[in-house]
Amino acid sequence: MRVMQVAGPGAKLEQAERELRDPGPGEVLVRVQACGVCHSDAFTIEGGVPGIEYPRVPGHEIAGRIEAVGEAVVPWTVGQRVGVGWFGGNCGHCDPCRRGDMISCVNGQVPGIAYDGGYADHVVVPQRALASIPDDLSAEGAAPLLCAGITTFNALRESGARAGDLVAVLGIGGLGHLGVQFARRMGFETVAIARGTDKEEQARSLGAHHYVDSTGTDVADALQALGGATTILATVTAPAAMSAAVGGLRPRGRMVVVGASTDPMQIPPFALIPGSTGVVGHASGTSKDSEDTLRFSALQGSGR
Ligand SMILES: [Zn+2]
Ligand SMILES: [Zn+2]
Repeated sequence: MRVMQVAGPGAKLEQAERELRDPGPGEVLVRVQACGVCHSDAFTIEGGVPGIEYPRVPGHEIAGRIEAVGEAVVPWTVGQRVGVGWFGGNCGHCDPCRRGDMISCVNGQVPGIAYDGGYADHVVVPQRALASIPDDLSAEGAAPLLCAGITTFNALRESGARAGDLVAVLGIGGLGHLGVQFARRMGFETVAIARGTDKEEQARSLGAHHYVDSTGTDVADALQALGGATTILATVTAPAAMSAAVGGLRPRGRMVVVGASTDPMQIPPFALIPGSTGVVGHASGTSKDSEDTLRFSALQGSGR
Protein backbone atom coordinates (compact mmCIF):
# COMPACT_ATOMS: atom_id res chain seq x y z
CA MET A 1 0.00 0.00 0.00
CA ARG A 2 1.00 3.60 -0.48
CA VAL A 3 1.63 5.87 2.49
CA MET A 4 2.79 9.44 2.95
CA GLN A 5 5.33 9.18 5.75
CA VAL A 6 7.70 11.37 7.71
CA ALA A 7 11.19 9.87 8.03
CA GLY A 8 12.09 11.88 11.13
CA PRO A 9 11.28 15.08 13.03
CA GLY A 10 11.36 18.03 10.61
CA ALA A 11 11.54 15.85 7.48
CA LYS A 12 9.28 16.43 4.48
CA LEU A 13 6.35 14.12 3.79
CA GLU A 14 7.42 11.44 1.30
CA GLN A 15 5.52 8.71 -0.52
CA ALA A 16 6.55 5.17 0.36
CA GLU A 17 5.37 1.60 -0.14
CA ARG A 18 4.48 -0.55 2.86
CA GLU A 19 3.41 -4.14 3.30
CA LEU A 20 -0.23 -4.42 4.26
CA ARG A 21 -0.46 -6.10 7.66
CA ASP A 22 -3.29 -8.25 8.98
CA PRO A 23 -5.25 -6.79 11.90
CA GLY A 24 -4.34 -8.39 15.23
CA PRO A 25 -6.75 -9.24 18.06
CA GLY A 26 -9.09 -6.29 18.69
CA GLU A 27 -7.93 -4.48 15.56
CA VAL A 28 -9.50 -3.75 12.18
CA LEU A 29 -8.04 -2.99 8.76
CA VAL A 30 -9.66 0.08 7.18
CA ARG A 31 -9.46 1.07 3.53
CA VAL A 32 -9.03 4.87 3.69
CA GLN A 33 -11.42 6.85 1.48
CA ALA A 34 -10.65 10.31 2.85
CA CYS A 35 -8.37 11.81 5.48
CA GLY A 36 -8.59 15.38 6.74
CA VAL A 37 -5.51 17.52 7.18
CA CYS A 38 -5.32 18.96 10.69
CA HIS A 39 -2.99 21.53 12.20
CA SER A 40 -2.06 18.90 14.82
CA ASP A 41 -0.50 16.75 12.07
CA ALA A 42 2.38 19.19 12.49
CA PHE A 43 3.18 17.47 15.82
CA THR A 44 4.18 14.39 13.85
CA ILE A 45 5.88 16.23 11.01
CA GLU A 46 7.86 18.63 13.20
CA GLY A 47 8.43 16.22 16.09
CA GLY A 48 6.44 18.30 18.58
CA VAL A 49 5.45 15.32 20.71
CA PRO A 50 8.09 13.27 22.52
CA GLY A 51 8.30 9.54 21.90
CA ILE A 52 7.06 9.37 18.29
CA GLU A 53 8.68 6.45 16.49
CA TYR A 54 9.73 7.25 12.91
CA PRO A 55 9.07 6.76 10.08
CA ARG A 56 5.50 7.71 10.94
CA VAL A 57 2.41 8.26 8.79
CA PRO A 58 0.34 11.27 10.03
CA GLY A 59 -3.44 11.66 9.82
CA HIS A 60 -6.21 11.40 12.42
CA GLU A 61 -9.33 12.42 10.46
CA ILE A 62 -9.89 9.11 8.72
CA ALA A 63 -13.02 7.97 6.90
CA GLY A 64 -13.18 4.62 5.15
CA ARG A 65 -14.55 1.11 5.06
CA ILE A 66 -13.61 -1.96 7.10
CA GLU A 67 -11.75 -4.45 4.93
CA ALA A 68 -10.78 -7.06 7.55
CA VAL A 69 -11.32 -7.64 11.25
CA GLY A 70 -9.01 -9.33 13.75
CA GLU A 71 -9.91 -11.81 16.45
CA ALA A 72 -12.33 -10.73 19.17
CA VAL A 73 -13.66 -7.74 17.22
CA VAL A 74 -17.29 -7.06 18.17
CA PRO A 75 -19.63 -5.84 16.64
CA TRP A 76 -17.78 -4.32 13.70
CA THR A 77 -18.02 -6.14 10.38
CA VAL A 78 -16.30 -6.12 7.00
CA GLY A 79 -17.76 -3.53 4.63
CA GLN A 80 -18.97 -1.17 7.37
CA ARG A 81 -18.25 2.55 6.90
CA VAL A 82 -16.17 3.85 9.79
CA GLY A 83 -14.27 6.90 10.93
CA VAL A 84 -11.29 7.34 13.22
CA GLY A 85 -10.47 10.67 14.84
CA TRP A 86 -8.10 12.10 17.45
CA PHE A 87 -9.26 9.43 19.92
CA GLY A 88 -7.33 6.45 18.60
CA GLY A 89 -7.73 4.07 21.52
CA ASN A 90 -7.41 3.83 25.28
CA CYS A 91 -5.80 1.33 27.63
CA GLY A 92 -8.85 0.31 29.64
CA HIS A 93 -6.88 -0.13 32.88
CA CYS A 94 -5.60 3.29 34.03
CA ASP A 95 -7.46 5.26 36.72
CA PRO A 96 -9.50 7.50 34.33
CA CYS A 97 -10.37 4.49 32.13
CA ARG A 98 -11.52 2.54 35.20
CA ARG A 99 -13.83 5.49 35.96
CA GLY A 100 -15.19 5.41 32.42
CA ASP A 101 -13.42 8.65 31.44
CA MET A 102 -11.72 7.25 28.38
CA ILE A 103 -10.75 10.52 26.72
CA SER A 104 -8.59 11.21 29.81
CA CYS A 105 -6.75 7.88 29.50
CA VAL A 106 -3.13 8.41 30.55
CA ASN A 107 -2.06 5.93 27.86
CA GLY A 108 -4.42 7.30 25.20
CA GLN A 109 -3.44 6.76 21.58
CA VAL A 110 -3.70 9.23 18.70
CA PRO A 111 -3.59 7.90 15.12
CA GLY A 112 -0.60 9.31 13.26
CA ILE A 113 1.27 9.72 16.55
CA ALA A 114 1.01 6.45 18.49
CA TYR A 115 0.61 4.39 15.32
CA ASP A 116 0.48 5.05 11.58
CA GLY A 117 -2.44 7.25 10.55
CA GLY A 118 -4.61 8.03 7.57
CA TYR A 119 -2.25 9.55 5.01
CA ALA A 120 -2.31 6.08 3.44
CA ASP A 121 -4.36 3.63 1.41
CA HIS A 122 -5.04 1.56 4.55
CA VAL A 123 -4.78 1.83 8.34
CA VAL A 124 -4.89 -0.77 11.09
CA VAL A 125 -6.63 0.63 14.17
CA PRO A 126 -7.95 -0.64 17.50
CA GLN A 127 -11.70 -1.26 17.42
CA ARG A 128 -12.06 1.16 20.36
CA ALA A 129 -11.17 3.96 17.93
CA LEU A 130 -14.06 3.32 15.52
CA ALA A 131 -17.08 5.51 14.89
CA SER A 132 -19.85 4.44 12.52
CA ILE A 133 -20.49 6.82 9.59
CA PRO A 134 -24.14 7.49 8.63
CA ASP A 135 -25.09 6.57 5.04
CA ASP A 136 -25.92 10.13 4.05
CA LEU A 137 -22.50 11.58 4.93
CA SER A 138 -19.75 11.35 2.32
CA ALA A 139 -16.28 10.21 3.36
CA GLU A 140 -14.94 13.69 2.53
CA GLY A 141 -17.68 15.29 4.61
CA ALA A 142 -17.18 12.96 7.55
CA ALA A 143 -13.38 13.12 7.82
CA PRO A 144 -12.92 16.65 9.26
CA LEU A 145 -15.85 16.11 11.61
CA LEU A 146 -13.75 13.46 13.34
CA CYS A 147 -11.40 16.06 14.84
CA ALA A 148 -12.43 19.69 14.32
CA GLY A 149 -16.09 18.64 14.33
CA ILE A 150 -16.18 16.51 17.45
CA THR A 151 -14.02 19.02 19.31
CA THR A 152 -16.51 21.85 18.84
CA PHE A 153 -19.67 19.70 18.95
CA ASN A 154 -18.72 17.97 22.18
CA ALA A 155 -17.39 21.13 23.84
CA LEU A 156 -20.68 22.90 23.11
CA ARG A 157 -23.01 20.12 24.18
CA GLU A 158 -21.09 19.63 27.44
CA SER A 159 -20.77 23.36 28.15
CA GLY A 160 -23.94 23.58 30.23
CA ALA A 161 -25.58 26.07 27.84
CA ARG A 162 -29.27 25.38 27.24
CA ALA A 163 -31.59 26.04 24.31
CA GLY A 164 -31.97 29.77 23.72
CA ASP A 165 -28.84 30.74 25.69
CA LEU A 166 -26.36 33.17 24.18
CA VAL A 167 -23.33 31.23 22.96
CA ALA A 168 -20.36 32.92 21.31
CA VAL A 169 -17.82 31.30 19.04
CA LEU A 170 -14.51 33.15 19.17
CA GLY A 171 -12.61 32.71 15.91
CA ILE A 172 -14.16 31.60 12.60
CA GLY A 173 -11.50 29.26 11.18
CA GLY A 174 -11.26 25.47 10.91
CA LEU A 175 -12.82 24.90 14.33
CA GLY A 176 -14.96 28.01 14.53
CA HIS A 177 -16.83 27.58 11.24
CA LEU A 178 -18.04 24.22 12.54
CA GLY A 179 -18.68 25.64 16.03
CA VAL A 180 -21.07 28.25 14.60
CA GLN A 181 -23.03 25.62 12.68
CA PHE A 182 -23.33 23.34 15.70
CA ALA A 183 -24.24 26.20 18.06
CA ARG A 184 -27.03 27.35 15.76
CA ARG A 185 -28.41 23.86 15.24
CA MET A 186 -28.24 23.05 18.96
CA GLY A 187 -30.68 25.89 19.50
CA PHE A 188 -28.40 28.58 20.93
CA GLU A 189 -28.54 32.30 20.16
CA THR A 190 -25.28 32.26 18.26
CA VAL A 191 -22.63 34.96 18.12
CA ALA A 192 -19.65 34.72 15.78
CA ILE A 193 -16.57 36.75 16.71
CA ALA A 194 -13.70 37.27 14.28
CA ARG A 195 -11.15 39.87 13.23
CA GLY A 196 -12.42 42.30 10.59
CA THR A 197 -15.59 42.15 8.52
CA ASP A 198 -14.41 39.66 5.88
CA LYS A 199 -15.93 36.69 7.70
CA GLU A 200 -19.27 38.27 8.53
CA GLU A 201 -21.14 37.03 5.48
CA GLN A 202 -19.77 33.50 5.87
CA ALA A 203 -20.54 33.44 9.60
CA ARG A 204 -24.11 34.57 9.03
CA SER A 205 -24.63 32.04 6.23
CA LEU A 206 -23.38 29.31 8.61
CA GLY A 207 -26.07 30.33 11.06
CA ALA A 208 -24.72 33.12 13.30
CA HIS A 209 -27.45 35.43 14.60
CA HIS A 210 -24.89 38.11 15.49
CA TYR A 211 -21.43 39.03 14.28
CA VAL A 212 -18.80 40.89 16.29
CA ASP A 213 -15.72 42.35 14.59
CA SER A 214 -13.07 42.11 17.29
CA THR A 215 -10.88 44.76 15.66
CA GLY A 216 -13.55 47.45 15.74
CA THR A 217 -15.35 46.65 18.98
CA ASP A 218 -14.63 45.72 22.58
CA VAL A 219 -15.69 42.05 22.47
CA ALA A 220 -16.64 41.87 26.15
CA ASP A 221 -18.85 44.97 25.86
CA ALA A 222 -20.47 43.66 22.68
CA LEU A 223 -21.38 40.37 24.38
CA GLN A 224 -22.69 42.15 27.46
CA ALA A 225 -24.84 44.35 25.21
CA LEU A 226 -26.44 41.12 23.96
CA GLY A 227 -27.09 39.98 27.53
CA GLY A 228 -23.83 38.19 28.29
CA ALA A 229 -22.71 34.80 27.01
CA THR A 230 -23.45 31.58 28.88
CA THR A 231 -20.65 29.96 26.90
CA ILE A 232 -17.79 31.35 24.87
CA LEU A 233 -16.20 28.67 22.73
CA ALA A 234 -12.63 29.90 22.23
CA THR A 235 -11.27 28.42 19.00
CA VAL A 236 -8.58 31.01 18.33
CA THR A 237 -4.95 30.25 19.14
CA ALA A 238 -4.30 33.79 20.42
CA PRO A 239 -4.55 33.83 24.23
CA ALA A 240 -4.84 37.65 24.22
CA ALA A 241 -8.06 37.40 22.20
CA MET A 242 -9.41 34.92 24.75
CA SER A 243 -8.52 37.19 27.67
CA ALA A 244 -10.28 40.11 25.98
CA ALA A 245 -13.52 38.11 25.67
CA VAL A 246 -13.79 36.72 29.22
CA GLY A 247 -15.58 39.88 30.39
CA GLY A 248 -18.40 39.02 27.97
CA LEU A 249 -19.58 36.09 30.10
CA ARG A 250 -22.82 36.35 32.02
CA PRO A 251 -22.76 35.34 35.69
CA ARG A 252 -21.70 31.69 36.05
CA GLY A 253 -20.80 31.59 32.35
CA ARG A 254 -17.82 29.61 31.10
CA MET A 255 -15.21 30.13 28.44
CA VAL A 256 -14.45 26.72 26.95
CA VAL A 257 -10.98 26.67 25.41
CA VAL A 258 -10.31 24.41 22.41
CA GLY A 259 -7.82 26.60 20.49
CA ALA A 260 -4.50 24.89 21.16
CA SER A 261 -1.79 27.36 22.09
CA THR A 262 1.23 26.90 24.35
CA ASP A 263 1.38 30.63 25.11
CA PRO A 264 0.13 31.84 28.50
CA MET A 265 -3.27 33.47 28.92
CA GLN A 266 -3.44 36.50 31.22
CA ILE A 267 -6.68 37.04 33.11
CA PRO A 268 -6.95 39.19 36.25
CA PRO A 269 -8.42 36.93 38.95
CA PHE A 270 -10.87 39.69 39.81
CA ALA A 271 -12.39 39.36 36.34
CA LEU A 272 -13.65 35.89 37.36
CA ILE A 273 -14.83 36.51 40.92
CA PRO A 274 -17.89 38.84 40.80
CA GLY A 275 -19.85 36.72 38.29
CA SER A 276 -18.39 33.39 39.43
CA THR A 277 -17.27 32.87 35.84
CA GLY A 278 -14.64 30.41 34.68
CA VAL A 279 -12.25 29.33 31.98
CA VAL A 280 -11.97 25.61 31.25
CA GLY A 281 -10.34 23.41 28.65
CA HIS A 282 -12.11 20.69 26.73
CA ALA A 283 -10.50 17.55 25.31
CA SER A 284 -12.13 16.33 22.09
CA GLY A 285 -14.13 13.20 22.90
CA THR A 286 -14.23 9.45 22.44
CA SER A 287 -15.10 7.48 19.33
CA LYS A 288 -18.71 7.30 20.50
CA ASP A 289 -18.76 11.09 20.78
CA SER A 290 -17.42 11.18 17.21
CA GLU A 291 -20.29 8.97 16.15
CA ASP A 292 -22.74 11.36 17.83
CA THR A 293 -21.08 14.26 15.96
CA LEU A 294 -21.48 12.49 12.62
CA ARG A 295 -25.10 11.55 13.32
CA PHE A 296 -25.98 15.09 14.44
CA SER A 297 -24.32 16.54 11.36
CA ALA A 298 -26.22 14.21 9.04
CA LEU A 299 -29.47 14.94 10.89
CA GLN A 300 -29.07 18.71 10.94
CA GLY A 301 -27.16 19.26 7.71
CA SER A 302 -24.20 20.86 9.49
CA GLY A 303 -20.51 20.33 8.90
CA ARG A 304 -20.06 21.77 5.44
ZN1 LIG B 1 -6.94 17.19 14.52
ZN1 LIG C 1 -6.43 4.32 30.17
